[in-house]
Amino acid sequence: MIAWLDAALPPLDPALGFILLLAAGAGFGVARLFDRPRSRPVPEPHRYADAHGDVTEPLMADRSNVEWTDATWTPIRAKHKATGKVGWHCTHATPGCVHCYAEGMNKRLGTGLPFKPGHADEVELFLDEQMLLAPLRWKKPRMIFVCSMTDLFADFVPDEWIDRVFAVMALTPHHTYQVLTKRSARMRAYLTGTPARLGSIIFLNALRLQPPGVDAEQWRRAEDRPFPLPNVWLGVSAEDQRRADERIPDLLATPAAIRFVSAEPLLGPIDFRNHRVCSECENTPFKLFKNDPLCPEPMPLWSDQQCPLHWWPSDGCDVTLRSGIDWIIVGGESGREARPMHPDWARQIRDQCAAAGTAFFFKQWGEFAPLASFTDPAATHEGLPEQDRAAVYRVGKKRAGRLLDGVQHDAMPEGRR
Ligand code: SF4
Repeated sequence: MIAWLDAALPPLDPALGFILLLAAGAGFGVARLFDRPRSRPVPEPHRYADAHGDVTEPLMADRSNVEWTDATWTPIRAKHKATGKVGWHCTHATPGCVHCYAEGMNKRLGTGLPFKPGHADEVELFLDEQMLLAPLRWKKPRMIFVCSMTDLFADFVPDEWIDRVFAVMALTPHHTYQVLTKRSARMRAYLTGTPARLGSIIFLNALRLQPPGVDAEQWRRAEDRPFPLPNVWLGVSAEDQRRADERIPDLLATPAAIRFVSAEPLLGPIDFRNHRVCSECENTPFKLFKNDPLCPEPMPLWSDQQCPLHWWPSDGCDVTLRSGIDWIIVGGESGREARPMHPDWARQIRDQCAAAGTAFFFKQWGEFAPLASFTDPAATHEGLPEQDRAAVYRVGKKRAGRLLDGVQHDAMPEGRR
């Protein structure tokens, strides 16, 4: 072989030969670097998107790829009774759950089970004490997405566990917690049914939680925390108008320092303009109808434009309604089975937020993005419903990016700590 090369190649200048030799050596070294087996297997990063956003390998809580948070924290865990594998558990609640990232992660790296009610008996749920206390060890303030791998207010989570999660949040006022749920009714019931006992629950749980070596003064201070906790933001997922109308009234009736909505994956247009509260007392307007025999048609006693407590002219109140939502996150779905988000749905919410003074965060296009952004012939309409073909192309999450009409929307609520 060498002799054949000698014969075939022209004579080489010695200086050039030396340079080529060096380059070949360096190339070989680089190739070896890429070839070298890693000292320990690194799990392939997997991304999934749903109403909770995208998370990459949330096994370690102290980091997150979610654009609107710093860390994820899921102390509610599950153990597969037959195999002993530890992961998470949840159950699909609505269409936004269909491609749940947490479920995919759990099938791959957790218990191996899907998030279906039929599998509830196969797992033993537990409160992971080590994970529960993790925020106490994080000295640097963080935005923390609570229960990114399940739903804190799902029916399989006992009140006592929620109490202890709230105890940790009360004990760590230097962090900001973002609690996002699809079970808005349970969240409302928990936070309106227990305010009188919430302080003592937090304090009692704080005492139980106290790990050795942690400043006892920190625990005593828990008793003095105001309610609602100023460092806890409460939010609901809403993928379409129906879910927004079901969940947002619960959210508005729940005491919270900051209220937010995650419209991800956005599966239809949403009009948020009817979800308002009185700027004076935060009550939500509602209609009552009288049954007056003189009036054949039911008449609204209170208009949905007025606060029920401030509508009497004799009040002398000049009270207006304002948006009850402090922050709205919008995102499209990613992954092979992603459902497209029409650009106009995102634009409409952006414009509603601007008009209402609500912080708007455009998290991602997801798998599909507007045609105008792409000239690549590889972009495709494949899998897109007919009515959306003129609007968006499947280009993949990374290339789709997160610019809406050329602008990156990263607004956070004013109360961001
Ligand atoms: S509520 Fe959240 S974690 Fe639970 S199945 Fe639905 S998307 Fe997944």
